[in-house]
Amino acid sequence: MTITNDIAVRRVQDATPLIDATDLPPAQHFINGSFEAGRASELITIVDPSTAEIIAHSPAGTVEDVDQAVAAAVAARAEWAQLVPKARSEVLHRIADRLAENADLLVRLESANTGKPFAVSQEDVDGTVDTFRFMAGALRATTTMAAGDYAENHLSVILREPLGVVGVITPWNYPLLMAAWKIAPILAAGNTLVIKPSEQTPLTTLKLAELVADLLPPGVLNVVTGYGPVVGARLAAHPAIDMIALTGSVNSGRAVARSAADTLKRVHLELGGKAPVVIFEDADLKAAAASLRVASFWNSGQECGAACRVLVHESVAAKFVDQLVAEVAGIVVGEPGAGDDVEIGPLVSEAHFNRVMGYLDRARQRGVRAAIGGGAIEGRGYFVAPTVLVDVPDGDECTRAEIFGPVVTVETFADAGEAVRRANDVPLGLSASVWTENARRSHNIASQLDAGTVWVNSHLVLANEVPWGGFKGSGYGRDLSIYALDDYRCVSRFLRRVG
Ligand code: NAD
Repeated sequence: MTITNDIAVRRVQDATPLIDATDLPPAQHFINGSFEAGRASELITIVDPSTAEIIAHSPAGTVEDVDQAVAAAVAARAEWAQLVPKARSEVLHRIADRLAENADLLVRLESANTGKPFAVSQEDVDGTVDTFRFMAGALRATTTMAAGDYAENHLSVILREPLGVVGVITPWNYPLLMAAWKIAPILAAGNTLVIKPSEQTPLTTLKLAELVADLLPPGVLNVVTGYGPVVGARLAAHPAIDMIALTGSVNSGRAVARSAADTLKRVHLELGGKAPVVIFEDADLKAAAASLRVASFWNSGQECGAACRVLVHESVAAKFVDQLVAEVAGIVVGEPGAGDDVEIGPLVSEAHFNRVMGYLDRARQRGVRAAIGGGAIEGRGYFVAPTVLVDVPDGDECTRAEIFGPVVTVETFADAGEAVRRANDVPLGLSASVWTENARRSHNIASQLDAGTVWVNSHLVLANEVPWGGFKGSGYGRDLSIYALDDYRCVSRFLRRVG
């Protein structure tokens, strides 16, 4: 394993831990409105990745635990679905208020469980609150096509109805935010749900359930912790679940979709990304480099939309790499709480650290050069140096696989046709960006990129009003916006004979 010696991790000087025992949620499932130990014989250890120390435990849930939670969600669905939009909206607003009141606690818990700098966790919590507020408004504002006499002597009425019970499976990179992206529209649409957080990062999802327990009828929101192949797989297969929604890797998406096919339940998949960043010779290179300092390395690059694959015109490639390396050299790496200027933290776990190091070691063996970084940072925790890889051959593994770490590759192109062809030559299509001062070119290229989101002269900017989701292997279904709300309800119609 390569160690990068020219960078150090900023450590917390004050010995006060980020969280204490009173901050933790119960190490139990949340079923039918209260915490339950469940039937697990095993507890999963929860680790702070910036120190590698154990900070908590959670139950490795069983099939029976899932079945109990699903039964609670089924029992609660009729009452919740019958509430008028205004009533459900008011509950969502109260949830948003409760989470905002507890923002500091949620920030510390998220940072302790993921190693994120406080600034990153704060953005996650702000985004979580805004997601509940947006869905609280959107659910009252969306209406259907007007009723009318479309068939002779018949009045047609179009309704939006909840699906029923939704199973939700979330990843470790944005534990609270990804939970909110599902929970808020699912509840807004009138469904009940059972959510399984990542086995590595269940703390803020359980804390959310604890904080809002008195705001929701029992059974409307249930949390079962545990492993994907047990708890996640049971949710995907359960005959009483009407839709399974997963944010995670392509492999988990495949497993869930396969399993859901047996009961013909609906499937909603937000999977991986490998975002190309296409930089033309007329682009503002300085602005692009400054933007990528954030967009490539936010959350240590553990971000499905990360600007991880630069394709730059060959005439400006050397200049751009110099500017990018200068930006990356300034990135402050540290433990959460080591200062407001810390920009990136560790990777989430030892297993993921080893995976990212494997990509870096194999790339080096193939002759790929690190213009900066390229290895682990000495000391405790799972820190990897912010890295820019150059001299990358066309089609190399590091330009095609989702590394999901603080690693950017730089390739060059000769003309627009080559840029588009190579940008699209990956099985994923979540997001991309185009950098040019030419308005016509920005439209032309953006429309040719196979991605659910294309930014122009920007990258990784999201808003609750705008849908997020992928093309190709990045999945189907949309998070955020009224399109997500519609994904969690179905349209029905009845025709009444008149006259
Ligand atoms: P992962 O697929 O390993 O795990 C995601 C969730 O799926 C976890 O809760 C896990 O326990 C569960 N799971 C694993 N195997 C399962 C199975 N067989 N059946 C049911 N559930 C199973 O992903 P991860 O490593 O936690 O997260 C990183 C991945 O998530 C990356 O690929 C990233 O791009 C993706 N992601 C996508 C988005 C998006 O919006 N598209 C957002 C965040 C993360």
